[in-house]
Amino acid sequence: MRQIAILGSTGSIGTSALDVIRRHPDRLSAIALTAHRRWEVLVRQAWEFRPRFVALSDPAAARKADPAQLPPGTSFLRGSDALSEIAVHEDVDTVLVAIVGAAGLRSTWAAAEQGKTIAIANKETLVLAGPLIVDLARRHRATLLPVDSEHSAIFQCLSAGRREEVARIILTASGGPFRTWTREELEQATVEQALQHPTWAMGPKITIDSATMMNKALEIVEARWLFDFPPERITVVIHPQSIVHSLVEFQDGAVIAQMSPPDMRLPIQFALFYPDRLPGPARKMNWAVPYCLEFEPADTERFPALRLGYRVAAAGGTAGAVLNAANEVAVERFLRRELGFLDILRLVEAVLDEHKVEYPDALQPLLDADAWARRRARQWHPPARAYSAPPL
Ligand code: NAD
Ligand code: MG
Repeated sequence: MRQIAILGSTGSIGTSALDVIRRHPDRLSAIALTAHRRWEVLVRQAWEFRPRFVALSDPAAARKADPAQLPPGTSFLRGSDALSEIAVHEDVDTVLVAIVGAAGLRSTWAAAEQGKTIAIANKETLVLAGPLIVDLARRHRATLLPVDSEHSAIFQCLSAGRREEVARIILTASGGPFRTWTREELEQATVEQALQHPTWAMGPKITIDSATMMNKALEIVEARWLFDFPPERITVVIHPQSIVHSLVEFQDGAVIAQMSPPDMRLPIQFALFYPDRLPGPARKMNWAVPYCLEFEPADTERFPALRLGYRVAAAGGTAGAVLNAANEVAVERFLRRELGFLDILRLVEAVLDEHKVEYPDALQPLLDADAWARRRARQWHPPARAYSAPPL
């Protein structure tokens, strides 16, 4: 029986993970579940999965919650420190970090220091502090298993050969809802349009990131640190069907792909059972129907976010903290309708341009860079646009 702590159990990844656990009651057990504010959902999950701990990380929400609603045997923890407390608990075998944003950093750090097995969906943490987390995990013999579908795919494909035989890794990108839009159309894209992803159902932040392609920029940086390949050996291709989740090209020209219908329950289950493969709830390919798989080069002119991803992956140091923090604020401001869609990338680029990259070997300077970038991102104003008369 593996005891799984799900940090962020009420989100898209969290509920998919619970689906995997539900399917394997004899092998997996949810020992701890956490949410930020959604108490009712957490209570419902607690009655079904009977965890030893639940936590609400938002202090205001935690004060209002009534622990008497929890089933017997489930203890209630409050505040963001509770996440780290859970992550290092001696009975936890695997910590699934399914929190969105830099808020996942502290608990991931704590789990790595404790030598835990960490299934990491929370890419923002790896963008913020990738080299330090990977090094910490190595020193404390923690295992970092990617959950992001592309990185899970690369991890699986890498086992087809030796590391020194790899020529490059190829990340696939669906292209999001605006793959074929012109720049003029993108300028007008609304929150509702940006929240409609063609192939994946996900939380709002990553859905906006997919529309701007910032998600792929973050994934370039994530891959750079997780797999230790320089950015020149990371290629992005557009693959609208989201069936090939990523590929590894070996020196002899052989390209190994990992395929499956788009369903996060597969990479989650792969990480929870690693190295075993078991039947599971994820959708399967239907070989009785035709599939058409397309691949197009990802043009950095059309998708300027990719340029930022490569730039930050090459720069390293504090650049990732700044990219991620500026983007988190820009997405919040877009969702509050303070910014236009293309302003997200303008803001992120402006904050990055203003930042002088440093190379600290401790966490605090990265957190300082994160805080600085958030401040600058809140102050940033979109450029005044020339008035253009509507067509007659
Ligand atoms: P989501 O918004 O659906 O869920 C986020 C979860 O984190 C919720 O349980 C929420 O309660 C919790 N949370 C939010 N803010 C928090 C905070 N400040 N402190 C602690 N907990 C907090 O997000 P999601 O789509 O499930 O994504 C989670 C992570 O997984 C993100 O880093 C995302 O990039 C990554 N990811 C998601 C998908 C996907 O298909 N959804 C795929 C790949 C990677
Ligand atoms: Mg992904």
